[in-house]
Amino acid sequence: MVKGRLICRRCGGGLNPAAPRWRCECGGHLDLAFSPRPRREDFKGVSGTLWRYLPALPLSDEVEPVTLGEGGTPLVTMTAPGGARCLVKMDHLQPTGSFKDRGASVMISRLKHLGIREVVEDSSGNAGAAVAAYCARAAMKCTIYVPASAPRAKLAQISAYGAQVVKVEGPREAAAEAVLRAADNVYYAGHCVDPFFIQGTKTLAYELVEQLGWRAPRTVAGPLGNGTLILGLIQGFTELLEAGLISCMPRILAFQSRACNPLARAYREGKPEPVKIEPTASLADGIAAAAPLLGRRILEEVRRVGAEILDVKEDAIRNAWRRWAVLGLSVEPTAAVALAGMEEIGEQPGETVVVVTGHGLKRLDQPVSSSTVDVRR
Ligand SMILES: *Cc1c(COP(=O)(O)O)cnc(C)c1O
Ligand SMILES: [Zn+2]
Repeated sequence: MVKGRLICRRCGGGLNPAAPRWRCECGGHLDLAFSPRPRREDFKGVSGTLWRYLPALPLSDEVEPVTLGEGGTPLVTMTAPGGARCLVKMDHLQPTGSFKDRGASVMISRLKHLGIREVVEDSSGNAGAAVAAYCARAAMKCTIYVPASAPRAKLAQISAYGAQVVKVEGPREAAAEAVLRAADNVYYAGHCVDPFFIQGTKTLAYELVEQLGWRAPRTVAGPLGNGTLILGLIQGFTELLEAGLISCMPRILAFQSRACNPLARAYREGKPEPVKIEPTASLADGIAAAAPLLGRRILEEVRRVGAEILDVKEDAIRNAWRRWAVLGLSVEPTAAVALAGMEEIGEQPGETVVVVTGHGLKRLDQPVSSSTVDVRR
């Protein structure tokens, strides 16, 4: 049913992956030891959703996917405002409007299979919407803890799926503390800590490689907050490399906003842990993680595969967001962080893929341009 072994990151103890436990007795978070060696033929003839990569996922055929048709997003060649050509991975075109549906679908499928009826989760918005939607699909009850300052449209989306929303005053970390108190009694389906969530986001790497005719792109760029996108990409490309399905690791570029850049600073300064920072206001609400829980692991993995963490100024994010919207690409500002970063570093040799992670419809409360004219009669 569930493949692989769960291992405590703190004490090294093993846990049965069929046990409905989200952390070890010692309080440590869990890692999943699972190294699939899929072959290309394994993926033939299965649906166009991410479930076509089931042979590479730690769930067996008897697990019934909780699906809304996630994955299978287009890869579109576009010319950036600065003139560079790139491939845009349209992962904002997912059932709830962000790439988090990949993780939520896989994580909730396992929990449903284990018989869990109710979960709690904390999120700045998009992970909450994804978990709420997949819980609704699975007829599971869910409560999402969010910072009270989260964008209103994101809160409305979470409650529209029937989830209970608990607004927590203070920074993003305050919602994380509040959910841990609730997690004493209810299963914590935390997207930042559940290793099955990253098993879902890793399908992005499989899908990109298949869309390119079973080759890795030279460069892949995306935004970075708590690391579920970047860790998923690294995990996926590592497996593809080990299985011999690609011949080299792409150059992975992760971008933060300079207003909240604990990982970019640690990377630059050669530190093993996220740097303690005082975040300032940012348009990129979806990656405003000042103290990413998996920070140490993200830095380790990034260095292991030669990826890079960079940061961009708020002005650059705002400009990229506007300039791409008038080219027809409506994303939320958080997703524009990687577009801004790629513009700053200029055209790269070889194929460059930018993963756009969240839909522009998520932030219609923040109008992208001021060209609206009200006509009164
Ligand atoms: C969550 C999110 C990210 C970043 O993902 P992390 O897992 O926090 O690094 C990027 N863009 C959007 C739109 C998101 O919702
Ligand atoms: Zn332990």
